[in-house]
Amino acid sequence: MISDEEILKLPKDNFQKKLDDIIKKNTAAGVRPKLLLHSCCAPCSSYCLEYLRQYFDITDFYYNPNITEEAEYRKRTDEIKRLITVMNSEDETLPIGFEEGRYDSREFFDAVKGFESEPEGGLRCVKCFRLRLYETARVAAEGHFDCFTTTLTISPLKNASVLNHIGEEAGREFGVMFLPSDFKKKEGYNRSVELSEKYGLYRQDYCGCGFSKAERQGCSV
Ligand code: SF4
Repeated sequence: MISDEEILKLPKDNFQKKLDDIIKKNTAAGVRPKLLLHSCCAPCSSYCLEYLRQYFDITDFYYNPNITEEAEYRKRTDEIKRLITVMNSEDETLPIGFEEGRYDSREFFDAVKGFESEPEGGLRCVKCFRLRLYETARVAAEGHFDCFTTTLTISPLKNASVLNHIGEEAGREFGVMFLPSDFKKKEGYNRSVELSEKYGLYRQDYCGCGFSKAERQGCSV
């Protein structure tokens, strides 16, 4: 097991190619695996759901105790639920399920304790990703899903190597396959912007925690 400092230095890899290969293999075998998709927000999920529902039976899993202001958490939760309802009504043949995780921001504060002042993209985020991906892996194993992954890799601000490494770590821990991803590839991020406009989605201008909000506003907390 490598340290979190080393995780931040991992080289880039082609995770989209790895996902393409898995999808190709499943399609050839006529298999549609059950996927638990950790979802960070509606805008990021829009493209991931549109793309992945063609190949997987998806349950969207909303576990984000990192959104430290409860009103903001509720707003983002309502938006992902609304998006899924609309997408399901547009195509009833590929239904998307929804499951909300616990919401207790103390889980986030405990996980990042001692790393609060790290900049976005640093060690605080490694801890935050681990919290969310381990819980997703646990729920995926408990629910007998075939695999899990996260919409977080669509963000140009998030390091796909770090997320994929932690996802694999979590998958090993709970005995469930982590699906490699880098959803910003194949114009995924641009498509999420288009879909956000199409569905009139609320697009927040900071990642989620109070620290990231303060960073965007140019102050420290
Ligand atoms: S900036 Fe985003 S990923 Fe990083 S700790 Fe805050 S909520 Fe988590």
